[in-house]
Amino acid sequence: MQLKDPTLLRQHAWIDGHWIEADDGSHFAVTNPADGSVLAQVPDLGARETRRAVAAANAALPAWRARTAKERAAVLRKWFELIMANQDDLAVLMTAEQGKPLAEARGEVAYGASFIEWFAEEGKRIYGDVIPSHGADKRIIVLKEPIGVVAAVTPWNFPIAMITRKAGPALAAGCTMVIKPAEDTPLSALALAVLAERAGLPAGVLNVVTTLKAPEVGGELTANPTVRKLSFTGSTEVGKLLMKQCAGTVKKVSLELGGNAPFIVFDDADLDAAVAGAMASKYRNAGQTCVCANRLLVQDGIYDAFAARLAEAVGQLKVGPGLSGEVQQGPLINDEAVAKVETLVADALAKGAGLACGGKRHALGGTFYEPTILTDVTPQMRVAREEIFGPVAPLFRFHTEDEAIRMANDTEFGLAAYFYASHIARIWRVAERLEYGIVGINEGIISTEVAPFGGVKESGIGREGSKYGIEDYVEMKYLCMGGI
Ligand code: ADP
Repeated sequence: MQLKDPTLLRQHAWIDGHWIEADDGSHFAVTNPADGSVLAQVPDLGARETRRAVAAANAALPAWRARTAKERAAVLRKWFELIMANQDDLAVLMTAEQGKPLAEARGEVAYGASFIEWFAEEGKRIYGDVIPSHGADKRIIVLKEPIGVVAAVTPWNFPIAMITRKAGPALAAGCTMVIKPAEDTPLSALALAVLAERAGLPAGVLNVVTTLKAPEVGGELTANPTVRKLSFTGSTEVGKLLMKQCAGTVKKVSLELGGNAPFIVFDDADLDAAVAGAMASKYRNAGQTCVCANRLLVQDGIYDAFAARLAEAVGQLKVGPGLSGEVQQGPLINDEAVAKVETLVADALAKGAGLACGGKRHALGGTFYEPTILTDVTPQMRVAREEIFGPVAPLFRFHTEDEAIRMANDTEFGLAAYFYASHIARIWRVAERLEYGIVGINEGIISTEVAPFGGVKESGIGREGSKYGIEDYVEMKYLCMGGI
């Protein structure tokens, strides 16, 4: 791994403006999923160091929240510019620890940076209210104030963007933060901290706790009464656990959890567009995103044509180490991820699914898996219910619009859904009946900092990005002024 600026690679945690070791000196290795090589050793912090990080964030809070929004915006703008100026290095670092193709990593750096830029601007527009009073001698005012110290627990699939989506609005609103990045991808988080410091973010405003002991650190972050909000992106299972843990101190929570995205192709769809959308939605990041198409529901009349064209497109995907040139699919994040994909595919095949392509570990070995298409998939197979998080597209067949909607909504999840159709009445009907927070209509890529991202049902609480995203980081205070 070659960086133009080697100082972006840090092997310490970042607390209160200092690069620190664990109290007991312990470390853990960060590895490259493409070849298993060790990239770095980072400190394995525990509850004690986490408490110190929370205390540092709390100490930094009064001065940070007292700055004007414009002053905070200037620091965030600088941070955004530094992230973009270091896009190449950040992409290399990300691909090295996460595995995604370099072009995707560069895209994520820009996408991640866009949240900092957006919220730098949006922070200036956290307007309060003056409410017409209920009494002639009274006045009613609503202030919006930063919620306080925020804890963020983030996943490995978007090592930068899942942090900046939280840090952007939190810092713009005047909150301070403790971030616990995923154990697989702490280097991107630490590089962000290097750039935040260079941008002029004061000590303690943003802290990064690296750890392999997620339950211990998560336990402290959720039990500590100083932390007023938890923002979590990750699995539904861990999200539910953290939500329960936050109940003890009644923290505000934002959760961005699992999905089981349906991708519906109706008979009146533009087939080329549907195939292109499915490729982007399914195989991006090797299928490891929470908005990846998890179930492709295809209407009977075009099922065979769609399956054939998709197989042709998938057959052209180039698999390999993300750092090596023109690769479109990298390795999966770790052995556990490949094992899960193998189990799901085996279950589907055992229950009668067909294989249009792929279906096994890739000849490259390690955690590489072949881009795969399963056909004739039924609701009895595990892929119908579980998030695959790998490059496997299961194709289900349906006959009527009602049946498609029923199948699409038959899940406890409700993050993203997609459909391809051309009749305008159908487009409205289907868009309204899908029980999802995000609906892609004739579009497979829906993520952008200007739109509200988030799910309904067990996919989460709250929205990230857009003018709504900052609301999760402010509290309302109602002033009732009497005697006027
Ligand atoms: P994934 O399946 O995507 O790895 P996880 O929910 O396991 O999703 O991980 C998302 C984040 O949650 C990671 O930062 C991980 O370390 C963290 N995490 C996992 N278990 C816990 C826990 N018990 N307490 C706090 N954080 C946790």
